[in-house]
This record gives sequence, structure tokens and C-alpha cells, in this order.
Amino acid sequence: MIIIPKKNHKISRKKISKNALKILCRLKKSGYQAYLVGGSVRDLIIGNQPKDFDLVTNATPFEIQKLFKNCRLIGRRFQIAHIMFKKEIIEVSTFRGNNQHHKKKRYKKKEKFGILLRDNVFGGIEEDAERRDLTINTLYLNIFDLSIRDYVGGIKDIKKKIIRLIGDPETRYREDPVRILRVIRFSAQLKMKIEKKTAIAIPKLAKLLSYVPGARLYNELNKLLQTGFGYQAYKKLKKFCLLKRIFPFPFLDYNKKINFLINKLTINVLKKNDQKIQKKKKINPAFLWSAILWYPYFINTIKIKKKKKMTYKDASYISLKKILKKASYMLSIPKQIIYSIREIWKIINIITYHKENLFYQIKKNKKFYEAHNLYILKKNIEKKINFKKKLIK
Ligand code: ATP
Ligand code: MG
Repeated sequence: MIIIPKKNHKISRKKISKNALKILCRLKKSGYQAYLVGGSVRDLIIGNQPKDFDLVTNATPFEIQKLFKNCRLIGRRFQIAHIMFKKEIIEVSTFRGNNQHHKKKRYKKKEKFGILLRDNVFGGIEEDAERRDLTINTLYLNIFDLSIRDYVGGIKDIKKKIIRLIGDPETRYREDPVRILRVIRFSAQLKMKIEKKTAIAIPKLAKLLSYVPGARLYNELNKLLQTGFGYQAYKKLKKFCLLKRIFPFPFLDYNKKINFLINKLTINVLKKNDQKIQKKKKINPAFLWSAILWYPYFINTIKIKKKKKMTYKDASYISLKKILKKASYMLSIPKQIIYSIREIWKIINIITYHKENLFYQIKKNKKFYEAHNLYILKKNIEKKINFKKKLIK
């Protein structure tokens, strides 16, 4: 372990949330150890503004609850405390122990593929460091003297711009496959290289992503693709052959042309979203999902139309239901997002088939602007390969 004293870094208390500082002070004054940890320390060292401030302590969740009236305990796998303020929630976790060192069998219970099922063992700071994901996310800032404790070489890796999993990558990915997506995310977000062993294990274990619960996968994918560096992240997902593991349709079943269209439309929307976020504009997460799923929906509609000799409208209704059901099953896409995707697609169909009497109505629809944008984007791509003539007729 090395300790980096205040004079060797530029973090100042001014950049840290006042609420986080208050909690750290109270924990310390009550005789507990307490540190700022994780992404916030990493971002402060790099010079970025942290998104949130995570704290860690040797106080147990119940001891934390006793100290703070505004505290709520959450989580089953590992209980953590949420301290609630008007405009902020600060997460306080207890040092996590290493399950492997624990004698009781039930704490080691792993599923068939090595996925950790129970993780609720408390430990000391060194064990806590071993249990975290990346070296760059494992720095502990003591806010009293502003010294940083580094147990796993995080400072060196930040300087060298390296994303490195702590411990044996294969074991760590097996314990929690979401770490694969976190490695991709931080590498794209922070423009850092993935260390060789951390990278090599990814394609081998990518199939484990299908065991991640849909809601967690959906959240992680949104952080990956919809927070300002989506295009870079998508390129990395593609490079590591992860797309077919995380998107709710079998990429490989489509012919080359369709894969080209899906890919192009997704990339164009990601680039647009990234630009918007850079300009601090809001984006609608449904826009990206409606683009990613558009061609699977459209191709499926055409197939149903031909097979069942239906009108496009009837076939599109069946197809829409089928594709969105599949998507929400695999990714647990929230209901309001599914509703928006459906609206966007409906409007695109009306624009495409020129129902002029309906045009007036849809212009009033809140989703018209997004649907029209997506329509233009896809039309421009389709022009390049003379797509519809071949497919529809
Ligand atoms: P950001 O909040 O900027 O997205 P972060 O690194 O703070 O990034 P969080 O999800 O807030 O990410 O997690 C806080 C910390 O908890 C991480 O920095 C890491 O130390 C630890 N952590 C999070 N997810 C995992 C995981 N799947 N496995 C091991 N440790 C994790
Ligand atoms: Mg965080």
C-alpha cells in the first residue's frame, strides 16, 4: 500500500460535495474510519467533475443508520446506506470482505459459472480494495489530511491511462459479468487503454452477459451508450464482439446489407446524441433504442406481411408487439420507454406512407420531432444502398 500525501496531488475540498464532507466528518467523529472512494476520487485526480460521491466506512449499515436520521438501507446482495438530502443521495457502504477468505460455506455460494450470489460479508479496508473492480476505482481519500491510500496501483494506472481489473480477470468477470461492460465504459469514457489480460478474457467470457438480469443490463447499457461517449463505446463493443450478447436480436441472422443498416443507423444516432450531451442538451433514451430496433422491427413486418398476406399496417402491429416484447424481456426496458419507441415508429410509418390526412394530427404529437429526425437519418442511409426497392418488392 502506498500513501500519497496532499502535496503530491491537486484535489481540494472545494470540489467535494458538502453533504459527503458532512457525512465523513460525523463518521470520523463517532470513531469510525471513513473515506471518499471510487469514481469520485478517480475523477478528482484526473481533473473531471465527479458524477456522484461514494463513501466507505467500517461502520455497519445499522451503525450508519443510527448516526443519520435521513438514512435508508438498500440492497440484498450487499446492504448499503443511502443518506438522503434535498438534491442529492450519498451512498455509504461498509468495507466489503473477501468471500474466499470466509469460512462459512454459504458466503462462498457461487452459481454454475462462478457468478457470486451472496456478497454480504464485511471486512477491512484492504479486503475492500481487493473486492473492487478496477485499479483506478480503488483509491481512498481521507478528507482530514487529504491523503490517498492506494492498495492496488491505481495512481500509476491513472497516470499511464490503463484500465486494469484487480486480481485474475477471468475470475472477476465470472463473479460479475457486468464488469465486462464497466471495463468498456471506463476505457471509452476516460480514453484509456485496456490492459492486455483484462482485454483478452473478454471475448472468452462474453456469453456470461446473458445471465445478467435485464434491469441491470439496461442501466449499464444506458450509462455506456447515452452519457456522451456512446460512439466510442459502441466501437469497442463491436471490437470485442459483444453486440450480439447485449442487443435483443440476433445480429448474425440478418444479411450483410441489413447489418450494415442497423450498424449505420445506430452509429449516426449515437454521434448525434454525443454532440447533444456535449452541448449540455437533454436526450431521450427512447430515441437510441427506437433506432437500434428499427430494422429488426421493419424487416419482421415485411416478413409477416408477405407470409400472412396482410396489409403493412396489420403486419406492423404484430411485428411491433413481438420485437418490443423480446426487447423488454432481455433488457427490461421501462414501460414509458417502450411507449415512446412505439410512438416514434408509428409516426415514421405515417410519414413513410404519406397519409396526408393523418399528417396534421401527428405534427402535434410530442414525439414528432424525434420520429422525423430518425426518418431522415434512415432515409439518407437507405439511399446509399438502394435498400427498399430490393426488400419490399
Ligand atoms: P461513475 O459513478 O462515474 O459512473 P464509479 O466508478 O463511481 O463511476 P459506481 O457504479 O458509482 O461507479 O461504483 C462505485 C465504486 O464501486 C466503483 O468505483 C468501484 O470501486 C465499485 N464497484 C462498482 N461496481 C462494481 C462491480 N461490479 N464490481 C466491483 N466493484 C464495483
Ligand atoms: Mg460513482
